[in-house]
Amino acid sequence: MIFKKIAVVGTGYVGLVTGVALSEIGHSVTCVDIDEQKVASMREGISPIYEPGLSDLMKKNYEAGRLSFTTSHELAFSDADAIYIAVGTPQKEDGTADLRFIESVARNIAEHLTSYAVIVTKSTVPVGTNDYIKQYIEKHTDVSFDVVSNPEFLREGSAVHDTFNGDRIVIGSDSPFAGQVIEDINAPFGIPVFKTDIRSAEMIKYASNAFLATKISFVNEIATLCEKLGANVEDVAKGMGQDKRIGEKFLNAGIGYGGSCFPKDTSALVQIAGNVEHEFTLLKAVIEVNYKQQRLLLDKAKEHFGSLRGKTIAMLGTAFKPNTDDMREAASTILARELVLAGAHVVAYDPIAMDAAKKLFPEAVDFAENVKSALKGADAAFLVTEWDDFKELRPEQYASLLKEPVLFDGRNCYDLEGMKGAGMDYYSIGRPVVK
Ligand code: NAD
Repeated sequence: MIFKKIAVVGTGYVGLVTGVALSEIGHSVTCVDIDEQKVASMREGISPIYEPGLSDLMKKNYEAGRLSFTTSHELAFSDADAIYIAVGTPQKEDGTADLRFIESVARNIAEHLTSYAVIVTKSTVPVGTNDYIKQYIEKHTDVSFDVVSNPEFLREGSAVHDTFNGDRIVIGSDSPFAGQVIEDINAPFGIPVFKTDIRSAEMIKYASNAFLATKISFVNEIATLCEKLGANVEDVAKGMGQDKRIGEKFLNAGIGYGGSCFPKDTSALVQIAGNVEHEFTLLKAVIEVNYKQQRLLLDKAKEHFGSLRGKTIAMLGTAFKPNTDDMREAASTILARELVLAGAHVVAYDPIAMDAAKKLFPEAVDFAENVKSALKGADAAFLVTEWDDFKELRPEQYASLLKEPVLFDGRNCYDLEGMKGAGMDYYSIGRPVVK
Protein backbone atom coordinates (compact mmCIF):
# COMPACT_ATOMS: atom_id res chain seq x y z
CA MET A 1 0.00 0.00 0.00
CA ILE A 2 1.37 3.40 -0.95
CA PHE A 3 0.17 6.00 1.50
CA LYS A 4 -0.85 9.33 0.03
CA LYS A 5 -0.65 12.94 1.06
CA ILE A 6 -4.21 14.18 1.31
CA ALA A 7 -5.81 17.58 1.93
CA VAL A 8 -9.39 17.74 3.20
CA VAL A 9 -11.19 21.06 2.79
CA GLY A 10 -13.88 21.67 5.43
CA THR A 11 -13.96 20.02 8.84
CA GLY A 12 -17.68 19.58 9.40
CA TYR A 13 -19.40 16.23 9.94
CA VAL A 14 -18.16 14.91 6.60
CA GLY A 15 -14.73 16.56 6.32
CA LEU A 16 -13.47 15.85 9.80
CA VAL A 17 -14.70 12.26 9.85
CA THR A 18 -13.20 11.67 6.38
CA GLY A 19 -9.87 13.24 7.37
CA VAL A 20 -9.67 11.27 10.60
CA ALA A 21 -10.62 7.98 8.89
CA LEU A 22 -8.12 8.49 6.04
CA SER A 23 -5.35 9.14 8.58
CA GLU A 24 -6.41 6.09 10.60
CA ILE A 25 -5.85 3.85 7.56
CA GLY A 26 -2.34 5.31 7.15
CA HIS A 27 -2.52 8.35 4.89
CA SER A 28 -0.97 11.67 5.79
CA VAL A 29 -3.88 14.11 6.07
CA THR A 30 -4.06 17.88 6.44
CA CYS A 31 -7.51 19.26 7.21
CA VAL A 32 -8.06 22.89 6.28
CA ASP A 33 -10.94 25.08 7.48
CA ILE A 34 -11.61 28.81 7.29
CA ASP A 35 -13.05 28.71 10.82
CA GLU A 36 -10.08 29.62 13.04
CA GLN A 37 -11.89 28.59 16.21
CA LYS A 38 -12.53 25.10 14.86
CA VAL A 39 -8.90 24.70 13.83
CA ALA A 40 -7.64 25.93 17.21
CA SER A 41 -9.97 23.52 19.00
CA MET A 42 -8.87 20.53 16.88
CA ARG A 43 -5.24 21.39 17.51
CA GLU A 44 -6.00 21.12 21.21
CA GLY A 45 -7.44 17.68 20.60
CA ILE A 46 -11.07 18.80 20.96
CA SER A 47 -13.49 17.81 18.21
CA PRO A 48 -15.75 20.75 17.24
CA ILE A 49 -18.62 18.33 16.59
CA TYR A 50 -20.16 15.51 18.59
CA GLU A 51 -19.83 12.16 16.83
CA PRO A 52 -19.40 8.89 18.73
CA GLY A 53 -15.78 7.67 18.60
CA LEU A 54 -14.50 10.69 16.68
CA SER A 55 -12.58 12.52 19.43
CA ASP A 56 -10.42 9.56 20.42
CA LEU A 57 -9.55 8.64 16.84
CA MET A 58 -8.78 12.28 16.03
CA LYS A 59 -6.44 12.63 19.01
CA LYS A 60 -4.73 9.32 18.27
CA ASN A 61 -3.86 10.23 14.68
CA TYR A 62 -3.00 13.83 15.52
CA GLU A 63 -0.51 12.61 18.12
CA ALA A 64 0.85 10.03 15.69
CA GLY A 65 1.62 12.88 13.26
CA ARG A 66 -0.58 11.55 10.45
CA LEU A 67 -3.23 14.24 10.92
CA SER A 68 -2.84 18.01 11.09
CA PHE A 69 -5.07 21.06 11.02
CA THR A 70 -4.57 24.44 9.39
CA THR A 71 -6.35 27.52 8.11
CA SER A 72 -3.91 27.78 5.19
CA HIS A 73 -5.06 26.30 1.89
CA GLU A 74 -1.58 26.90 0.53
CA LEU A 75 -0.03 24.72 3.22
CA ALA A 76 -2.68 22.02 2.92
CA PHE A 77 -2.45 21.75 -0.87
CA SER A 78 1.33 21.78 -1.25
CA ASP A 79 2.35 18.40 -2.70
CA ALA A 80 -1.09 16.91 -2.02
CA ASP A 81 -1.88 13.81 -4.11
CA ALA A 82 -5.59 14.33 -3.53
CA ILE A 83 -7.71 17.26 -2.38
CA TYR A 84 -11.06 16.32 -0.86
CA ILE A 85 -13.81 18.95 -0.97
CA ALA A 86 -16.14 18.56 2.02
CA VAL A 87 -17.65 22.01 2.49
CA GLY A 88 -21.34 22.64 3.07
CA THR A 89 -23.92 22.95 0.29
CA PRO A 90 -26.84 24.39 2.25
CA GLN A 91 -30.26 25.27 0.93
CA LYS A 92 -31.03 28.70 -0.49
CA GLU A 93 -34.39 30.39 0.13
CA ASP A 94 -35.68 29.17 -3.24
CA GLY A 95 -34.80 25.55 -2.40
CA THR A 96 -31.76 25.32 -4.69
CA ALA A 97 -28.33 24.25 -3.42
CA ASP A 98 -26.14 27.16 -2.33
CA LEU A 99 -22.81 26.57 -4.05
CA ARG A 100 -20.91 29.55 -2.72
CA PHE A 101 -18.62 27.43 -0.50
CA ILE A 102 -17.88 25.12 -3.44
CA GLU A 103 -17.06 28.15 -5.59
CA SER A 104 -14.72 29.51 -2.92
CA VAL A 105 -12.88 26.17 -2.67
CA ALA A 106 -12.51 26.10 -6.47
CA ARG A 107 -10.88 29.54 -6.18
CA ASN A 108 -8.65 28.31 -3.32
CA ILE A 109 -7.52 25.33 -5.40
CA ALA A 110 -6.90 27.34 -8.57
CA GLU A 111 -4.77 29.75 -6.55
CA HIS A 112 -2.69 27.26 -4.58
CA LEU A 113 -2.36 24.12 -6.72
CA THR A 114 1.35 23.56 -7.33
CA SER A 115 1.48 20.01 -8.72
CA TYR A 116 -0.89 17.39 -10.14
CA ALA A 117 -3.63 16.35 -7.72
CA VAL A 118 -6.91 14.48 -7.90
CA ILE A 119 -9.69 16.78 -6.73
CA VAL A 120 -12.37 14.72 -5.00
CA THR A 121 -15.83 16.13 -4.33
CA LYS A 122 -17.42 14.62 -1.20
CA SER A 123 -19.94 17.42 -0.80
CA THR A 124 -23.41 16.75 -2.19
CA VAL A 125 -23.57 18.83 -5.35
CA PRO A 126 -26.14 19.19 -8.17
CA VAL A 127 -25.46 17.23 -11.34
CA GLY A 128 -22.97 19.19 -13.45
CA THR A 129 -21.21 20.90 -10.53
CA ASN A 130 -18.02 18.87 -10.91
CA ASP A 131 -17.89 19.98 -14.54
CA TYR A 132 -18.13 23.56 -13.31
CA ILE A 133 -15.32 22.96 -10.76
CA LYS A 134 -13.14 21.47 -13.49
CA GLN A 135 -13.77 24.29 -15.94
CA TYR A 136 -13.22 27.00 -13.34
CA ILE A 137 -9.89 25.59 -12.15
CA GLU A 138 -8.71 24.88 -15.71
CA LYS A 139 -9.33 28.50 -16.59
CA HIS A 140 -7.26 29.79 -13.67
CA THR A 141 -4.23 27.49 -13.47
CA ASP A 142 -1.78 25.75 -15.77
CA VAL A 143 -1.20 22.91 -13.32
CA SER A 144 -2.80 19.64 -14.41
CA PHE A 145 -5.43 17.88 -12.27
CA ASP A 146 -8.43 15.56 -12.49
CA VAL A 147 -11.83 15.80 -10.83
CA VAL A 148 -13.59 12.83 -9.21
CA SER A 149 -17.05 12.69 -7.68
CA ASN A 150 -17.04 10.61 -4.49
CA PRO A 151 -20.35 11.33 -2.73
CA GLU A 152 -20.62 10.67 0.98
CA PHE A 153 -23.21 8.36 2.55
CA LEU A 154 -22.30 8.50 6.26
CA ARG A 155 -25.06 9.14 8.79
CA GLU A 156 -24.61 11.65 11.56
CA GLY A 157 -24.62 9.86 14.90
CA SER A 158 -22.76 6.87 13.47
CA ALA A 159 -20.45 8.67 11.04
CA VAL A 160 -17.21 7.00 12.16
CA HIS A 161 -18.73 3.54 12.09
CA ASP A 162 -20.30 4.19 8.68
CA THR A 163 -17.00 5.38 7.18
CA PHE A 164 -15.32 2.10 8.09
CA ASN A 165 -18.36 -0.06 7.29
CA GLY A 166 -20.14 1.61 4.36
CA ASP A 167 -22.23 -0.40 1.90
CA ARG A 168 -20.34 1.02 -1.09
CA ILE A 169 -17.95 3.70 -2.18
CA VAL A 170 -19.14 5.51 -5.30
CA ILE A 171 -16.41 6.84 -7.55
CA GLY A 172 -17.47 8.94 -10.52
CA SER A 173 -14.67 9.79 -12.87
CA ASP A 174 -13.96 10.51 -16.49
CA SER A 175 -10.27 9.71 -15.93
CA PRO A 176 -9.47 6.02 -15.30
CA PHE A 177 -6.16 7.07 -13.68
CA ALA A 178 -7.81 9.45 -11.18
CA GLY A 179 -10.57 6.95 -10.43
CA GLN A 180 -7.90 4.35 -9.64
CA VAL A 181 -6.03 6.75 -7.33
CA ILE A 182 -9.20 7.23 -5.26
CA GLU A 183 -9.96 3.51 -5.28
CA ASP A 184 -6.41 2.81 -4.04
CA ILE A 185 -6.67 5.45 -1.30
CA ASN A 186 -9.86 3.77 -0.04
CA ALA A 187 -8.64 0.17 -0.45
CA PRO A 188 -7.82 -0.37 3.26
CA PHE A 189 -11.47 0.24 4.18
CA GLY A 190 -12.32 -2.98 2.31
CA ILE A 191 -15.66 -1.55 1.15
CA PRO A 192 -17.05 -2.48 -2.30
CA VAL A 193 -16.40 0.21 -4.92
CA PHE A 194 -18.90 1.22 -7.57
CA LYS A 195 -17.37 3.12 -10.46
CA THR A 196 -19.33 5.29 -12.84
CA ASP A 197 -19.19 8.59 -14.71
CA ILE A 198 -19.19 11.90 -12.82
CA ARG A 199 -22.79 12.94 -13.49
CA SER A 200 -24.19 9.54 -12.51
CA ALA A 201 -22.19 9.65 -9.25
CA GLU A 202 -23.61 13.09 -8.47
CA MET A 203 -27.12 11.78 -9.17
CA ILE A 204 -26.65 8.61 -7.08
CA LYS A 205 -26.33 10.77 -3.96
CA TYR A 206 -29.50 12.80 -4.58
CA ALA A 207 -31.47 9.77 -5.76
CA SER A 208 -30.45 7.79 -2.64
CA ASN A 209 -31.50 10.51 -0.22
CA ALA A 210 -34.71 11.20 -2.13
CA PHE A 211 -35.57 7.50 -2.09
CA LEU A 212 -34.99 7.18 1.67
CA ALA A 213 -37.07 10.30 2.29
CA THR A 214 -39.79 8.77 0.12
CA LYS A 215 -39.80 5.62 2.24
CA ILE A 216 -40.22 7.72 5.38
CA SER A 217 -43.04 9.86 4.01
CA PHE A 218 -44.72 6.76 2.60
CA VAL A 219 -44.81 4.95 5.91
CA ASN A 220 -45.95 8.15 7.61
CA GLU A 221 -48.93 8.37 5.25
CA ILE A 222 -49.69 4.72 6.05
CA ALA A 223 -49.43 5.65 9.76
CA THR A 224 -52.08 8.33 9.33
CA LEU A 225 -54.35 5.80 7.64
CA CYS A 226 -53.67 3.28 10.42
CA GLU A 227 -54.81 5.82 13.01
CA LYS A 228 -58.02 6.47 11.11
CA LEU A 229 -58.73 2.80 10.42
CA GLY A 230 -57.70 1.24 13.73
CA ALA A 231 -54.56 -0.57 12.52
CA ASN A 232 -51.08 -0.48 14.08
CA VAL A 233 -48.36 0.92 11.79
CA GLU A 234 -45.61 -0.88 13.65
CA ASP A 235 -47.06 -4.27 12.78
CA VAL A 236 -47.88 -3.07 9.26
CA ALA A 237 -44.27 -1.93 8.71
CA LYS A 238 -42.92 -5.18 10.17
CA GLY A 239 -45.15 -7.22 7.90
CA MET A 240 -44.15 -5.14 4.89
CA GLY A 241 -40.44 -5.16 5.73
CA GLN A 242 -40.25 -8.94 5.80
CA ASP A 243 -40.70 -8.81 2.04
CA LYS A 244 -37.12 -8.58 0.82
CA ARG A 245 -38.14 -6.40 -2.10
CA ILE A 246 -39.29 -3.78 0.40
CA GLY A 247 -36.82 -4.24 3.27
CA GLU A 248 -37.38 -3.31 6.89
CA LYS A 249 -35.14 -0.21 7.07
CA PHE A 250 -36.54 3.32 6.95
CA LEU A 251 -40.06 2.15 7.69
CA ASN A 252 -40.33 3.69 11.15
CA ALA A 253 -43.31 6.00 11.37
CA GLY A 254 -42.65 9.21 13.27
CA ILE A 255 -42.65 12.97 13.11
CA GLY A 256 -40.76 13.07 9.83
CA TYR A 257 -37.20 13.50 8.67
CA GLY A 258 -34.99 16.47 9.50
CA GLY A 259 -31.28 17.09 9.62
CA SER A 260 -28.72 18.62 7.35
CA CYS A 261 -29.33 16.36 4.33
CA PHE A 262 -32.82 15.02 3.51
CA PRO A 263 -34.71 18.34 3.63
CA LYS A 264 -32.17 20.27 1.57
CA ASP A 265 -31.34 17.44 -0.84
CA THR A 266 -34.98 16.61 -1.62
CA SER A 267 -35.75 20.23 -2.29
CA ALA A 268 -32.57 20.66 -4.38
CA LEU A 269 -33.55 17.63 -6.49
CA VAL A 270 -36.99 19.13 -7.16
CA GLN A 271 -35.18 22.26 -8.39
CA ILE A 272 -32.62 20.25 -10.40
CA ALA A 273 -35.56 18.51 -12.13
CA GLY A 274 -37.27 21.87 -12.70
CA ASN A 275 -34.17 23.20 -14.43
CA VAL A 276 -34.59 20.55 -17.12
CA GLU A 277 -38.36 21.10 -17.33
CA HIS A 278 -39.35 18.04 -15.34
CA GLU A 279 -41.85 18.31 -12.55
CA PHE A 280 -40.84 15.80 -9.85
CA THR A 281 -44.41 15.27 -8.63
CA LEU A 282 -43.58 12.33 -6.36
CA LEU A 283 -40.79 14.11 -4.51
CA LYS A 284 -42.90 17.24 -4.06
CA ALA A 285 -45.50 15.09 -2.31
CA VAL A 286 -42.80 13.52 -0.11
CA ILE A 287 -41.77 17.01 1.05
CA GLU A 288 -45.37 18.05 1.65
CA VAL A 289 -46.08 14.97 3.76
CA ASN A 290 -42.97 15.67 5.84
CA TYR A 291 -44.09 19.26 6.42
CA LYS A 292 -47.35 17.99 7.94
CA GLN A 293 -45.62 15.22 9.85
CA GLN A 294 -43.21 17.54 11.66
CA ARG A 295 -46.22 19.39 13.13
CA LEU A 296 -48.20 16.28 14.07
CA LEU A 297 -47.56 16.31 17.84
CA LEU A 298 -48.86 19.85 17.94
CA ASP A 299 -52.10 18.82 16.21
CA LYS A 300 -52.53 15.90 18.59
CA ALA A 301 -51.88 18.08 21.65
CA LYS A 302 -54.34 20.74 20.46
CA GLU A 303 -56.97 18.09 19.95
CA HIS A 304 -56.33 16.64 23.41
CA PHE A 305 -56.25 19.92 25.35
CA GLY A 306 -58.47 22.14 23.20
CA SER A 307 -56.09 25.05 23.77
CA LEU A 308 -52.39 24.96 24.65
CA ARG A 309 -52.45 28.43 26.24
CA GLY A 310 -50.86 28.29 29.69
CA LYS A 311 -49.88 24.62 29.37
CA THR A 312 -46.33 23.58 30.18
CA ILE A 313 -44.85 21.15 27.68
CA ALA A 314 -41.69 19.18 28.44
CA MET A 315 -39.80 18.75 25.18
CA LEU A 316 -37.62 15.65 25.32
CA GLY A 317 -34.94 15.91 22.69
CA THR A 318 -33.98 18.79 20.42
CA ALA A 319 -31.42 17.16 18.07
CA PHE A 320 -32.82 15.97 14.74
CA LYS A 321 -31.93 12.42 15.73
CA PRO A 322 -30.09 10.66 18.59
CA ASN A 323 -26.29 10.65 19.00
CA THR A 324 -25.75 13.99 17.32
CA ASP A 325 -25.65 17.64 18.36
CA ASP A 326 -26.89 18.71 14.93
CA MET A 327 -30.04 20.81 15.03
CA ARG A 328 -30.30 21.64 11.34
CA GLU A 329 -33.95 21.27 10.21
CA ALA A 330 -34.86 19.46 13.44
CA ALA A 331 -38.60 19.03 14.09
CA SER A 332 -37.95 20.42 17.58
CA THR A 333 -37.28 23.92 16.20
CA ILE A 334 -40.68 23.98 14.47
CA LEU A 335 -42.46 22.52 17.49
CA ALA A 336 -40.79 24.93 19.94
CA ARG A 337 -41.76 27.93 17.82
CA GLU A 338 -45.34 26.77 17.28
CA LEU A 339 -45.84 25.84 20.93
CA VAL A 340 -44.69 29.29 22.06
CA LEU A 341 -46.97 30.89 19.45
CA ALA A 342 -49.87 28.82 20.80
CA GLY A 343 -49.23 30.27 24.29
CA ALA A 344 -47.56 27.19 25.80
CA HIS A 345 -44.56 27.25 28.11
CA VAL A 346 -41.81 24.95 26.79
CA VAL A 347 -39.16 23.30 28.97
CA ALA A 348 -36.66 21.50 26.76
CA TYR A 349 -33.95 18.97 27.49
CA ASP A 350 -31.42 17.21 25.25
CA PRO A 351 -28.40 15.20 26.45
CA ILE A 352 -26.05 16.71 23.81
CA ALA A 353 -27.67 19.33 21.59
CA MET A 354 -28.86 21.84 24.21
CA ASP A 355 -26.23 24.50 23.42
CA ALA A 356 -27.20 24.39 19.76
CA ALA A 357 -30.90 24.51 20.71
CA LYS A 358 -30.39 27.60 22.87
CA LYS A 359 -29.23 29.50 19.80
CA LEU A 360 -32.20 28.43 17.67
CA PHE A 361 -35.22 28.27 19.98
CA PRO A 362 -37.42 31.25 20.85
CA GLU A 363 -36.22 33.12 23.95
CA ALA A 364 -39.33 32.10 25.89
CA VAL A 365 -38.18 28.46 25.95
CA ASP A 366 -36.60 27.25 29.19
CA PHE A 367 -34.02 24.49 29.40
CA ALA A 368 -33.91 21.82 32.09
CA GLU A 369 -30.79 20.25 33.59
CA ASN A 370 -32.02 16.73 33.17
CA VAL A 371 -34.94 14.79 31.82
CA LYS A 372 -36.68 14.43 35.18
CA SER A 373 -36.62 18.13 35.95
CA ALA A 374 -38.02 18.81 32.46
CA LEU A 375 -40.94 16.48 33.17
CA LYS A 376 -41.60 17.55 36.75
CA GLY A 377 -44.86 19.48 36.96
CA ALA A 378 -45.32 19.78 33.16
CA ASP A 379 -48.80 19.22 31.77
CA ALA A 380 -47.57 16.99 28.97
CA ALA A 381 -44.40 15.71 27.35
CA PHE A 382 -43.43 15.74 23.67
CA LEU A 383 -40.94 12.96 22.93
CA VAL A 384 -39.13 14.42 19.93
CA THR A 385 -35.76 12.60 19.73
CA GLU A 386 -35.42 8.92 20.58
CA TRP A 387 -32.33 9.19 22.82
CA ASP A 388 -31.68 6.07 24.95
CA ASP A 389 -31.88 8.30 28.06
CA PHE A 390 -35.56 8.84 27.33
CA LYS A 391 -36.34 5.28 26.29
CA GLU A 392 -34.92 4.08 29.61
CA LEU A 393 -37.60 6.00 31.54
CA ARG A 394 -40.41 3.75 32.65
CA PRO A 395 -44.01 4.74 31.81
CA GLU A 396 -44.78 5.08 35.54
CA GLN A 397 -42.00 7.66 35.88
CA TYR A 398 -43.67 9.89 33.32
CA ALA A 399 -46.98 9.39 35.08
CA SER A 400 -45.59 10.37 38.47
CA LEU A 401 -43.63 13.40 37.26
CA LEU A 402 -46.16 14.95 34.83
CA LYS A 403 -49.12 16.93 36.12
CA GLU A 404 -51.92 15.74 33.79
CA PRO A 405 -50.22 13.24 32.75
CA VAL A 406 -50.05 12.78 28.97
CA LEU A 407 -47.20 11.74 26.68
CA PHE A 408 -47.09 12.58 22.95
CA ASP A 409 -44.47 10.23 21.54
CA GLY A 410 -43.22 11.34 18.13
CA ARG A 411 -40.88 8.36 17.74
CA ASN A 412 -42.97 5.40 18.93
CA CYS A 413 -40.46 4.65 21.69
CA TYR A 414 -42.82 2.64 23.86
CA ASP A 415 -44.63 -0.59 23.61
CA LEU A 416 -48.40 -0.08 23.71
CA GLU A 417 -48.83 -3.00 26.14
CA GLY A 418 -46.36 -1.42 28.58
CA MET A 419 -48.35 1.81 28.51
CA LYS A 420 -51.58 0.16 29.51
CA GLY A 421 -52.16 0.65 33.21
CA ALA A 422 -49.31 3.19 33.50
CA GLY A 423 -51.78 5.84 34.57
CA MET A 424 -51.47 8.28 31.71
CA ASP A 425 -52.70 9.06 28.23
CA TYR A 426 -50.28 7.95 25.54
CA TYR A 427 -50.39 9.21 21.97
CA SER A 428 -47.95 7.87 19.39
CA ILE A 429 -47.76 7.78 15.59
CA GLY A 430 -49.96 5.40 13.59
CA ARG A 431 -50.99 3.38 16.64
CA PRO A 432 -54.10 3.35 18.83
CA VAL A 433 -54.21 5.89 21.68
CA VAL A 434 -53.77 4.36 25.16
CA LYS A 435 -55.88 6.03 27.84
P1 NAD B 1 -20.62 21.47 7.72
O1 NAD B 1 -21.43 22.70 7.48
O2 NAD B 1 -20.76 20.75 9.01
O3 NAD B 1 -19.06 21.78 7.50
C1 NAD B 1 -18.55 22.51 6.44
C2 NAD B 1 -17.21 23.11 6.86
O4 NAD B 1 -16.59 23.71 5.71
C3 NAD B 1 -17.32 24.22 7.89
O5 NAD B 1 -16.48 23.92 9.00
C4 NAD B 1 -16.82 25.48 7.14
O6 NAD B 1 -16.15 26.39 7.99
C5 NAD B 1 -15.89 24.88 6.13
N1 NAD B 1 -15.59 25.71 4.93
C6 NAD B 1 -16.44 26.45 4.17
N2 NAD B 1 -15.76 27.04 3.17
C7 NAD B 1 -14.47 26.66 3.26
C8 NAD B 1 -13.28 26.90 2.52
N3 NAD B 1 -13.28 27.67 1.43
N4 NAD B 1 -12.12 26.36 2.94
C9 NAD B 1 -12.08 25.57 4.04
N5 NAD B 1 -13.17 25.29 4.78
C10 NAD B 1 -14.35 25.82 4.41
O7 NAD B 1 -20.99 20.50 6.51
P2 NAD B 1 -21.25 18.92 6.55
O8 NAD B 1 -22.49 18.59 7.29
O9 NAD B 1 -19.99 18.22 6.88
O10 NAD B 1 -21.57 18.66 4.99
C11 NAD B 1 -20.60 18.83 3.99
C12 NAD B 1 -21.15 18.29 2.69
O11 NAD B 1 -21.35 16.88 2.78
C13 NAD B 1 -22.50 18.86 2.28
O12 NAD B 1 -22.54 18.98 0.88
C14 NAD B 1 -23.49 17.81 2.72
O13 NAD B 1 -24.67 17.82 1.97
C15 NAD B 1 -22.71 16.54 2.47
N6 NAD B 1 -23.09 15.42 3.33
C16 NAD B 1 -23.35 15.64 4.65
C17 NAD B 1 -23.69 14.56 5.46
C18 NAD B 1 -24.01 14.80 6.91
O14 NAD B 1 -24.53 13.87 7.54
N7 NAD B 1 -23.70 15.94 7.49
C19 NAD B 1 -23.75 13.26 4.93
C20 NAD B 1 -23.45 13.08 3.57
C21 NAD B 1 -23.13 14.17 2.79
